[in-house]
Amino acid sequence: MTTTRFAPSPTGYIHVGNLRTALFNHLIARKSGGTFILRIDDTDPERSREEYVDAIKQDLEWLGLTWDRVERQSERLDRYAEAADKLREMGRFYEAFETPTELDLKRKKQLNMGKPPVYDRAALSLSDDEKAKLREERGPGVWRFKLDQERIEWEDGILGPISIDAASVSDPVLIRADGQVLYTLASVVDDIDMGVTHVVRGSDHVTNTATQIQMIRALGGTVPSFAHHSLLTGPQGESLSKRLGTLALRDLREQGIEPEALLSLMARLGSSQPVELRTSLDEIAEGFDLDQFGSAPTKFDVQDLFPLTARKLHGLAYADVKDELKALGVPDDIAPDFWAVARDNITVRSDVATWWALCSQGAEPLVADEDQEFVAQAMALLPDGPLDGETWGTWTAEVKEATGRKGKGLFMPLRKALTGQERGPEMSDLLPLLQNIPARSLASN
Ligand code: GLU
Repeated sequence: MTTTRFAPSPTGYIHVGNLRTALFNHLIARKSGGTFILRIDDTDPERSREEYVDAIKQDLEWLGLTWDRVERQSERLDRYAEAADKLREMGRFYEAFETPTELDLKRKKQLNMGKPPVYDRAALSLSDDEKAKLREERGPGVWRFKLDQERIEWEDGILGPISIDAASVSDPVLIRADGQVLYTLASVVDDIDMGVTHVVRGSDHVTNTATQIQMIRALGGTVPSFAHHSLLTGPQGESLSKRLGTLALRDLREQGIEPEALLSLMARLGSSQPVELRTSLDEIAEGFDLDQFGSAPTKFDVQDLFPLTARKLHGLAYADVKDELKALGVPDDIAPDFWAVARDNITVRSDVATWWALCSQGAEPLVADEDQEFVAQAMALLPDGPLDGETWGTWTAEVKEATGRKGKGLFMPLRKALTGQERGPEMSDLLPLLQNIPARSLASN
C-alpha cells in the first residue's frame, strides 16, 4: 500500500516550488489508491504559526489536493525523544559542545587546507569529565547522529542511482542545544511510524536523504523509495529562491490563475510530456510518471499560467458561470448571450466584470480627430430601437453607403467609438448586448 506525505513547515505560505512536491506526492498516492498525508512540520515553536497551517490547508484545498489525514510533529515529541534514546543506547548519538564560531573556524581551516568542511568529530573523544565540565560552562550541547562511514546508495526515482560517501558529510545535528528536535530526526521517525513508502522532495534534500537512510536503518525502519525533483528557476535560468515569496499560491490565486492551469503546468513542467490544459486531477494523474522528469533545473515562467487559465475559462459553459453572472448583475435573459461573447475575450475571471461594465454602462468613446465627422454621421444612422444580431451588418452597410468608407477605415472607428478600445468581441455579437451607448451623443443632427 502506497503512502506518501507532503510535509511543509508552517513558517510561511506555500509557493510554486512547494506545490511541485505536494502535487507529485499527491499524484503518486492517488494513482495507486494509496494514502496521502499532510504532515505539518512544526517542531520550531518560534517560527511555526497557526495562521500558516490554515493557509496551507486552504491553498491545497483550492487546488483539490485533498489529504487523507493530518499529522503534526508538535504532537509527536515523545516519539522523537524515544528515538533519540534508542540512538543513544546504540552509541549512534553524541553530544557536542562547539559554538557556532568554533565550528566556523574549523570549517575555514579545512577549506584552507583544501579539505571538505566536514565536522571533525572532536566531541567523540571527550571523556565524561570533560563533557560534564563543558556542560557546566556552556550549557547542554547539541546531539549529533554518528554516521557509519561507508557509501550510502539508493536508486532515486528521478535522479537514478545515487552514491554518497558518508565520510564527506558532517554528522547531522538532530537535537539543538535548547532541546528542539530538528526536522531530520522528526521526519525519519514519522516516515517509519506512518509507513511512508515514497518520498518525493526537492533536490536540495539529497544529502539529508543520505543521512536519513542511515538513521532509518539504525532505528529498524524500512527505507522508502526516494525521488528528488529538480528545483525551479526563473525563465532565464535565474535562481528563484528570493522570488518564491512572490510566487505564493495565494498570490497566483489573487492574480486570477485557475487551479487547473496551475496543476496542469506543474504536473508536466520539467518532464518529457507536453504541457496541456487538463481539467481534472484524474486526468492529470493519468499521464503522470516520475520517470519522465529530468534532473536539470526546471524553468518556470508565471506568464505561462495565463494562456492555460484563459483556455480553461474558454471551455466553460453558461451553466458553469450562471451564478457568477447573476452576482455581477447580468440579467438572466441576456446572460447566455453575454457569456458567449465574453468567454472568448477573457484571460482571467475578473475580466468578465470588465466586459459587463462595458455592456451595462457603455464606454467612453475613443475617436481620433480625423474620424470625428465620420463617427457623428454613423451615430446618427444607428437605429434607436432594440439592436439585434443583424444590426451591425445593416448599420455598417448604411454607413458605408453614406460615407464611402470601407474595410478597416469603416469598422475600426466604430468599434473604438462604441467600446473605447481597439480589440474585443465580434461587433455583431456585442452590439445587441450594449445597454447603454454613450457614443450616441456624438450623433450629428
Ligand atoms: N519540512 C521539510 C521541508 O519543508 C520537509 C522535507 C521532506 O519532505 O522531508 O523542507
